[in-house]
Amino acid sequence: SDDKHVLSIQSHVTHGYVGNKAATFPLQLHGFDVDAINTVSLSNHSGYPVIKGHRMDLEEFNTIMEGLRANDFLSDYAYVLTGYINNRDIVQQVAATVTEIREARQKQGKKDVVFFCDPVMGDDGRLYCKEEVVEAYRELLSHADVATPNYFEASILSTVEVKDLASAIEAANWFHTQGTPTVVIKSFAMADDPTHLRFLLSYRDKATGSTKRYTGVVPYHEGRYTGTGDVFAASLVVFAHSDPMDLAVGKAMGVLQDLIKATIERGGSGNATLSSRELRVTSYPDQLQHPSSVALVTPLP
Ligand code: ATP
Repeated sequence: SDDKHVLSIQSHVTHGYVGNKAATFPLQLHGFDVDAINTVSLSNHSGYPVIKGHRMDLEEFNTIMEGLRANDFLSDYAYVLTGYINNRDIVQQVAATVTEIREARQKQGKKDVVFFCDPVMGDDGRLYCKEEVVEAYRELLSHADVATPNYFEASILSTVEVKDLASAIEAANWFHTQGTPTVVIKSFAMADDPTHLRFLLSYRDKATGSTKRYTGVVPYHEGRYTGTGDVFAASLVVFAHSDPMDLAVGKAMGVLQDLIKATIERGGSGNATLSSRELRVTSYPDQLQHPSSVALVTPLP
């Protein structure tokens, strides 16, 4: 096997593209097997006026895990990817899940599992989870290999307000201290250039303690798009499978640019209805595989 197998722990929505609905297609396009655990099963994302459905509790999560364990599937997972969970008990349990997968793979002489943790908690100054979930993520991040917070999540977790490159670096340092070697703060607005969003990739070598940082920008598109972080994290898994992390970040940024532009072209500009602003995840499969641009990811001195 070439190890393209992901356990993806995220939301499911009937309508639209967030969580597993947004992450599965890009991963599958690149030949990944995606074993999805749906932490919630809802009609649509929480931006809409009405939201109906079911939320998983710890017992249900453990029941699914029991099935995966009993059939010996756990050692299959070269990657664990977590997104929207919004349940303290399940966030806590994921640490044990990753450890169990790690041990199952070790026993079979397989490569170590890589855990991508997107600590999905909120956006643009609005926290949509309880403080106990924030606490649980702080602990879980010590088990993560890669964290992909948005600027708001990075701020909440680190208590450093991310508002420029210097504060982003400081926030990323908190993640490293917590035990996450690779952190991508996916975007933050810059006061001196409102036409772009900046991002930070920060890597700390656990053995030497030395830190290598990279940054870059992408053009800013007016308006809010939901599910961008989920497609980003999935694309990062895809590209980091074969490319170095800085190039993988650049490619994942390129995928999001194409996807947002495609969404705008099809009527989903910044102030259009929520439904028309759902990311057009299935419209341009070629661009999900080969983004038309790759963001420059420049090492910081
Ligand atoms: P999560 O809640 O999953 O952590 P998010 O969707 O809030 O993530 P963002 O940083 O807003 O995270 O978006 C992820 C990526 O999508 C960014 O790195 C950027 O490439 C792209 N993106 C999102 N919104 C815009 C926008 N308005 N203009 C340009 N690019 C955007």
